[in-house]
Amino acid sequence: MLWDKIKGQRGAVNYLRQSIKKERVVSSYLFHGPEGVGKTLTASVFARALNCRIAPGDGCGSCPDCRDIERGSHPDVLFQAPSSKSRLIVVQQIRQLQKMVYLQARRDNWKVFVIKEADRMNINAQNAFLKTLEEPPEKTILILVTHQPELLLPTIRSRCQSVSFSPWPFEMMKPFLMEKLGRGEAECYMLHCISGGSPGRALRLSRERILEIRRQLIGPILEGRFLSAAEVISRVKSWLDYLTERSRSLSDELARNRADWGDALDPAQRKEWEERDDAEVAAKERAELEMIFELIFSWIRDLFIYHEVGLEAHLINQDLAERIKAEESNRSVAQLHRMMEWVEKSRRLAVKASARTTRQLIFENMLIQLGYWRPNS
Ligand SMILES: [Zn+2]
Repeated sequence: MLWDKIKGQRGAVNYLRQSIKKERVVSSYLFHGPEGVGKTLTASVFARALNCRIAPGDGCGSCPDCRDIERGSHPDVLFQAPSSKSRLIVVQQIRQLQKMVYLQARRDNWKVFVIKEADRMNINAQNAFLKTLEEPPEKTILILVTHQPELLLPTIRSRCQSVSFSPWPFEMMKPFLMEKLGRGEAECYMLHCISGGSPGRALRLSRERILEIRRQLIGPILEGRFLSAAEVISRVKSWLDYLTERSRSLSDELARNRADWGDALDPAQRKEWEERDDAEVAAKERAELEMIFELIFSWIRDLFIYHEVGLEAHLINQDLAERIKAEESNRSVAQLHRMMEWVEKSRRLAVKASARTTRQLIFENMLIQLGYWRPNS
């Protein structure tokens, strides 16, 4: 049965299967949940289950309808994604889709339109799309797929049946990551925690070398030793350089994409695109900054957990258990609490501050407050 291909989403699968069985299929759905947990696959299986004539409600996987939907070549089932250049879904794409929505089905069956990364619809596209949501034709289903539903207009969200997808538990993530990445169990566990149970995000973080970055960026902290003043400064410089480099490379890439379009855009379109790109760079930089704090948090949380429970099994940074044990014994619970508070306070300040020098002071102060710097050390 095709539904079995979807791992770890029993709630969503049961709901959709039952809605076919009980003939309670509605015209628009919002599939939301972490990246890479099977939302698009579920949309594809749902479309096959609806249109399969051999195993109605389940999908046989081998009839022409099932095969065409899987290959993306079915005339009545369309997957729409952001354009590869602008990474946006623009109003022209939505207009094109609308034409197809109102066409007669080519084969006598359900028409299904899946909008992947629906949050990438710009505001005009969302407004245009709203009209289709309000007056959908018979036997037509619109499925919006996103891991950031909050970026959609509330009027869009409220018109869709919400179907939520869950993070994967570690038992599922472990064999998947070990096979895909060839990393050990402890490293896979770290990736599981830091990705919030999203296999797609875990793969991406691993590709972005998050485990190596963790060593580089918070290396001396992990060594559990005191830093000299010069080391504090150079440590903070490496964090800031990392942030600057990441946003510069994204910003350059986006600018190249815009340049490829040359004069094909009118000034208003170009301005909107530039603003969207700037917002994306700023969001990315914030996410990178949060990631640095996330890594520091995971470290202090582990010191805390080990202090309280004394079991390695509960640590996020299991691959660094030895260092955690060594450092934990030097800290009291009150100290660990204060460390948590300092990191949280610094995080809030650093996210608000955009100037490099301000962030530098915040980071330096945090390291001192965390007790990683002592005069004359
Ligand atoms: Zn079939």
